[in-house]
Amino acid sequence: MLTDALGRPLRDLRVSVTDRCNFRCVYCMPKEVFGPGHPFLPRSEVLSYEEIARVVRVFVALGVRKVRLTGGEPLLRRDLPRLVEMLAAVPDLEVTLTTNGSALAALAAPLAQAGLRRVTVSLDSLDDAEFRAMNDVDFPVARVLAGIDAAAAAGLAPLKVNMVVKRGLNDRSVVAMARRFHGTGHVVRYIEYMDVGSTNGWRLDDVVTAEEIVAAVHRELPLEPVPRDDPSETALRWRYLDGGGEIGVVASVTRAFCGGCSRARLSADGHLYTCLFATTGTDLKAVLRGGASDDGLADAVRAVWSARTDRYSELRSAATPPRPRVEMSFIGG
Ligand code: SAM
Ligand code: SF4
Ligand code: SF4
Repeated sequence: MLTDALGRPLRDLRVSVTDRCNFRCVYCMPKEVFGPGHPFLPRSEVLSYEEIARVVRVFVALGVRKVRLTGGEPLLRRDLPRLVEMLAAVPDLEVTLTTNGSALAALAAPLAQAGLRRVTVSLDSLDDAEFRAMNDVDFPVARVLAGIDAAAAAGLAPLKVNMVVKRGLNDRSVVAMARRFHGTGHVVRYIEYMDVGSTNGWRLDDVVTAEEIVAAVHRELPLEPVPRDDPSETALRWRYLDGGGEIGVVASVTRAFCGGCSRARLSADGHLYTCLFATTGTDLKAVLRGGASDDGLADAVRAVWSARTDRYSELRSAATPPRPRVEMSFIGG
C-alpha cells in the first residue's frame, strides 16, 4: 500500500474542475483581489474531462476510494454531469461534490442521474442580508435553499451543509442554522475560518472556535459527542440528545487533524498538491500531456506521495509568518 513519509495512505482526491466562481465569498475570493481583471486560467490550461478521468483512474489504482469535485464553483463548468458519469463508471470509487448551491436547483437531477451519490452545499447564513454580504455578489439565500431541496428530491439526501463561521460576520447565525436542519437528516458542518491562501486577511481573532460553536448549539439543542470511526474524517461529530440528527465541526485551527490526512488535491490546471496549505504543486499535466503511460503517471504520483511530510495545521501557531500560499479557490476546499 502506498503511504507517505508519515505512514498515511492516499485515500481521497479533491479535484478542482475550475478556478472560476460566481461568488466572491469574503473569506475565500475577496473582490479586491479577484476583481474584473483577475487572470483566471485560460481554457487550454484546464484539464479536459478525459484527462481528469485518466488521472483519477491512476489515483484509484494507488488506493483512492473517494473523489470530491470542487473548485472554484464546480457547477460553472459546462456539462459537469458528463464528468460525473465518467467517474461513476470507475470501480471502487465514490463520487461526491462540494458546491455553493447556486445552480443546484437546475443540475441536481442530471447529476444524480449521472451517478453522483452525495453532495455538500456551502451555506453561511439563513439570513438573506447576511448571506448576500458574505457571498458579496448579492446572491439570495432562497435560491441555495431551493438547490438543497432539489438535491434532496433527486435522491442526494442526506446532504452536508458547510458553514464557515467568521467572528462578527455570521457567528450569531450558528444556532439558527442548527435549528433549520435539525430533524431533516441533513448534517450541518461548521468550519473554523482558516488561514488558507494569502488574500483573505486572516487573523486568529476572527476564528470562532469549535468549542464556542458546540457550546452555542448545545445551550439550545443539547448534544453529545459521537466517537470518530474514520481516522481520515475531517469533522468532529456531535448528535442531538433528542434524536434530531447530527452536526459536525471542522476544527482545523484549534484541533488539527493532520495525523489521519489521506487527502490529495488536483488543481484545475493539473497540479498535484499534498496539503491545503501548500505553497507549490507538482505539474501532473506536463507528465500527462508529455505522453506518459498510466504507469509513468502512477510513478510520478507515487514519488510525490511517498515523500509527503505535510502537517501544516499541527505546526501552525499564532506566530506563523505570512507566506505565499495557493488559494483555496484554486485547489478546492
Ligand atoms: N465553491 C464551492 C463551495 O463554496 O462549496 C467549492 C469550493 S470552496 C473553496 C470549498 C469549501 O471551502 C466551501 O465550503 C468554503 O466555505 C470553504 N472555504 C473557503 N475558504 C475558506 C476559509 N478561509 N476557511 C474555511 N473554509 C473555507
Ligand atoms: Fe466561490 Fe466557494 Fe470560494 Fe465562495 S467558497 S468564493 S463559492 S469557491
Ligand atoms: Fe491535511 Fe495539510 Fe490539512 Fe494537515 S493541514 S489536515 S496535512 S491538508
